[in-house]
Amino acid sequence: RFKALVADKQNDKMEMNIKELGIKDLSEGEVVIRVAYSSVNYKDGMVGVTGAIAETFPIIPGIDLAGTVISSEDDRFKKGDEVIATSYYIGTRHSGGFSEVARIPAEWVVPLPEGLTKKEAMEIGTAGFTAALSIQRLEDNGLAPGDGEVLVDGASGGVGSIAINMLAGKGYEVVASTGRTEEAEYLKSLGARKVIHRDEVTDTDGKSTRKRRWKAAIDPVGGKTLQYILSSLDYGGSVATCGLAGGIEVETTVLPFISRGINWLGIDSVKYPMEKRLEVWERLASDMKPAALGTHIAHEVTLEELPDTLRDILNGKVRGRVIVRL
Ligand code: NAP
Repeated sequence: RFKALVADKQNDKMEMNIKELGIKDLSEGEVVIRVAYSSVNYKDGMVGVTGAIAETFPIIPGIDLAGTVISSEDDRFKKGDEVIATSYYIGTRHSGGFSEVARIPAEWVVPLPEGLTKKEAMEIGTAGFTAALSIQRLEDNGLAPGDGEVLVDGASGGVGSIAINMLAGKGYEVVASTGRTEEAEYLKSLGARKVIHRDEVTDTDGKSTRKRRWKAAIDPVGGKTLQYILSSLDYGGSVATCGLAGGIEVETTVLPFISRGINWLGIDSVKYPMEKRLEVWERLASDMKPAALGTHIAHEVTLEELPDTLRDILNGKVRGRVIVRL
């Protein structure tokens, strides 16, 4: 038997408890994994604390996990293989990573690439994978180092912190926007050239266009921040929309698109195709590997500490990445 964090909804109220479970309590899948590390993403907060995006109850949250294969009914994996599993329905419909043992469909499992430890893979996690997809997408749309300032908002959070570190590593001039200016030194240590308050990039007047400020932006916040970004991108600039921490509604007009030729790029890590997913993990283990892994960009919590961390991430109180040691 093994320990897991179980989230359940009883009489419309969410509760989280650590339980002793057996393999039959896990969702079906071909690959049984001894989980070494999981990580905490915003979505895990939504599943565990509010139940908002959970598709079934009870559920073991945890959209990310890294560990060692215990057994596999699929030829692609064998006992002893080190693997990563993130995304798809893990931790939302399928029992997830906040568990000492996980059982995952083989088509969702990624071999741990050479160049990454299981711990590093979870410091990156879905947040870092999403940061990498965002950068790739911006570059596919013409962005290159030396082009001008790149804004990263929600900077102190998971996606933001890894995005800053990766962009700086590639030689980009990063401006970090945050509601926590007391984290300025942390953000500069990751590679931000400038740190600004989020109020400076929050739309309050509904202008369609304003002074051009950025060549590109990575936006995990959405809402009025995204409105501001769309109105302030430079000619031909791009924003990668990857999150909703500040809201889902966006008001804009066609003007910045038809007068400045800007690109509004959508990023989805959940159903990103496996073939390309493997390539991104290879890059995360090599040319895109964040230099700050193993430093203050991440801290570790236990299963017992997780409920508090899940509440914190929904309240914008988590700095950088949080990994869970199982
Ligand atoms: P996180 O660690 O909580 O980061 C979010 C950051 O946004 C916070 O740290 C905070 O940064 C800022 N923020 C929070 N509430 C805000 C508000 N009301 N107004 C303005 N800024 C606010 O979460 P995460 O794991 O990095 O995820 C960030 C977002 O990306 C989430 O919405 C998540 O669902 C999304 N996401 C999407 C994908 C995808 O596939 N598209 C994948 C991963 C994550 P500061 O304190 O520095 O301002």
